[in-house]
Amino acid sequence: MQFERDVSLEGLNTLGVMSRAENFCRVESDADWLAAIDYANSRGLGITLLGGGSNVVLGEQLRGLVVHPVGDEIDLFEQRGDDVLVDVLAGTEWDTLVRICNQRGWFGLENLVSIPGSCGAAPVQNIGAYGVEIAEFIESVRVLDLSTREFSVIKSQDCGFAYRCSYFKGPWRARYAIVGIRLRLSTTPAVNTSYAALGQALDNAGLCEPTPEDVLNTVAAIRAAKLPDVRRVPNSGSFFKNPIVSGEHAQHLKAQYPYLPVYPLSDGRAKLAAAYLIEATGLKGYQHAGCGISEDHALVLVNPGQATGAGCLALAEHVMSTVQSAFGVTLEIEPVVMGA
Ligand SMILES: Cc1cc2nc3c(=O)[nH]c(=O)nc-3n(C[C@H](O)[C@H](O)[C@H](O)COP(=O)(O)OP(=O)(O)OC[C@H]3O[C@@H](n4cnc5c(N)ncnc54)[C@H](O)[C@@H]3O)c2cc1C
Repeated sequence: MQFERDVSLEGLNTLGVMSRAENFCRVESDADWLAAIDYANSRGLGITLLGGGSNVVLGEQLRGLVVHPVGDEIDLFEQRGDDVLVDVLAGTEWDTLVRICNQRGWFGLENLVSIPGSCGAAPVQNIGAYGVEIAEFIESVRVLDLSTREFSVIKSQDCGFAYRCSYFKGPWRARYAIVGIRLRLSTTPAVNTSYAALGQALDNAGLCEPTPEDVLNTVAAIRAAKLPDVRRVPNSGSFFKNPIVSGEHAQHLKAQYPYLPVYPLSDGRAKLAAAYLIEATGLKGYQHAGCGISEDHALVLVNPGQATGAGCLALAEHVMSTVQSAFGVTLEIEPVVMGA
């Protein structure tokens, strides 16, 4: 295991902004994680965890020690009846995990295919897509307490999972590193096609009784058609969360904008489509401070070439204030801002 100084992170964030780590290391085993803590402690350095860099906005320099989990390990821990418990190392690529589980007949994750990033980061914002969230499949999360150097296991129900959020994105952000996750999957080939666009695409393809593989392939195809490819157009996926407003506010907006997608929630509030709000303000394709809003998808900020983290945040501020003025709705940034 190596500790390096002044390392470029340009290839380690999907927005492709220029950024450098003051100190950097890759970790795979428990011993690596502990060595990283010891290195940081002995030099008085703070630790920043960086997975695939697909949900971050990086400033020009990340001070302290940037720890990057690597390696891939997917193990069957236990099978009981139709239930399988699968242990996965933090550095494993999420999309690889989804596809391997499907090939092995461990079902449930199909709707979450093609989400970039690492398995260690997946619980952090409770990744979700096409009607499914990872929280439904997390049995437990294995963590390392960065201050006490102790490994422990946290049950799913104690992780504070919510829409694009968990305690790992909030109060536990500086406390725990996720070193592995345990998933509860099923050998029963049940599928979730409740998400309207997915159901429609399956119908259009004549797949009346879709298999998990059909769902995986259909979701992958929809995503490929809809979202800009990070290898061609650097971006960090959805830059804003879908805002949640009171039921009255949603009704008021719906009366003014009949095409506004409104998703009622069980507590009486409603989730709005941030993409619609941004597009309605005419900002799709808009560029500012070296950063742009995708021509294809209003939720996605793209780096046309030389964008900086600060530039992306300046554009995001502009979008947020424009939407606030137009609709009285407060947008919230989805990626984690580091060193900017
Ligand atoms: C094109 C594109 C499409 C996307 N689509 C979706 C989508 O459909 N649904 C969705 O939910 N997200 C989506 N995302 C966002 C992103 O892919 C996920 O949030 C992903 O889980 C981030 O993983 P990462 O390894 O890249 O994390 P990073 O971006 O490296 O880190 C994100 C946060 O997690 C923390 N972190 C990283 N590793 C660990 C660890 N081992 N332990 C503790 N904390 C850690 C970091 O410190 C940081 O705070 C998309 C992103 C892109 C670029």
